[in-house]
Amino acid sequence: MISFLDLHKINLRFETEFKNKFTDFLDAGYYILGSNVTAFEEEYANYCGTKYCIGVGNGLDALRLILEGYKALGKLSDDDEVLVASNTYIATVLAIKQAGLTPVLIESKDDIFNFNLNELSNSITSKTRAIMPVHLYGQLSPMDAINEIATKNNLLVIEDAAQAHGAKNKEGQMAGNLGDAAGFSFYPTKNLGALGDAGAITTNNEELAVVIKKLRNYGTSSKYVNEYIGFNSRLDDIQAAFLRIKLPSLNADNIRRREIANQYLSTINNPKIKLPTFNENESHVFHLFVIQVSNREEFTNYLTQNEIGFLIHYPIPPHQQEALLEYSKLSFPITEKIHQQVVSIPISPILNNNEVTKIIEVLNSY
Ligand SMILES: *Cc1c(COP(=O)(O)O)cnc(C)c1O
Repeated sequence: MISFLDLHKINLRFETEFKNKFTDFLDAGYYILGSNVTAFEEEYANYCGTKYCIGVGNGLDALRLILEGYKALGKLSDDDEVLVASNTYIATVLAIKQAGLTPVLIESKDDIFNFNLNELSNSITSKTRAIMPVHLYGQLSPMDAINEIATKNNLLVIEDAAQAHGAKNKEGQMAGNLGDAAGFSFYPTKNLGALGDAGAITTNNEELAVVIKKLRNYGTSSKYVNEYIGFNSRLDDIQAAFLRIKLPSLNADNIRRREIANQYLSTINNPKIKLPTFNENESHVFHLFVIQVSNREEFTNYLTQNEIGFLIHYPIPPHQQEALLEYSKLSFPITEKIHQQVVSIPISPILNNNEVTKIIEVLNSY
């Protein structure tokens, strides 16, 4: 059996370092917003090329706190509209709603698993204040075009970079440094994953960084002095310690993911399987390798018979979720087709060559 993602094996690579670090942590007796958080924030800002990084509890909070930060600064207010891809993971939509803003869903473009830029431009109204591009599956959104639309219309650009740690544009600029602010998740399955929940915000905006730092910790400006109705969403110090151990391996892992992806793209050759497309090499870090098939049930049964793990990202689009009934009358045919046809096949950086070859053989024999 080739598992979809063997987290135990991924983290076993760092076993000794984790154990040593945990011993130090236990000895230090300091658990919240300690030296590991500060050090990780500096290292991750450095990695992304941004001036600031703020560690928070998870990816959803990272996105929400950016929006709450802009509200505290008076740059966003209740019911402002935020444009977001209709095929995103629901977290992006929830963050916007939880911040008291209105998500406006934008229909997808099939071959890029992202929003259609014409639809994006056409959806701007007098209430639109921000665009939230999602680098879904690890592939950068078309940021040059998005930033141009944003500049022309005076909109904020907030990246959902939860699946794209380390993705770079042609100029070598990283995900997290391609808009006004970005939210990252370090959920264990992500390209940079903690051993529990964790997230971060990156930005070059000092004012925003300062306010988010307060918001994540009860809105405090100094101990027991509350400036805002804040949140409790602090990056755990032990998770920051684990992330510091894993960060130096992120680039090598992304290179291995891309190597496997390129092998899939050049050797999977089956008219029943539609492969993903991407242009600029380093703009995709292949958090997921997502193929499309017309008869998904038949195909996934076949994968199971052949002992190949898979997942569906995602089976139900946000507008068809029970939690978002107010969108249930909307129709996004391309998004709906994507959700009916996608299958994610294994692309973990610890897959060995035999496993990759076996996956290719099984897919070509389907
Ligand atoms: C994982 C993910 C999130 C949310 O991250 P959590 O840490 O699970 O809260 C947000 N957006 C996208 C695209 C994600 O993949």
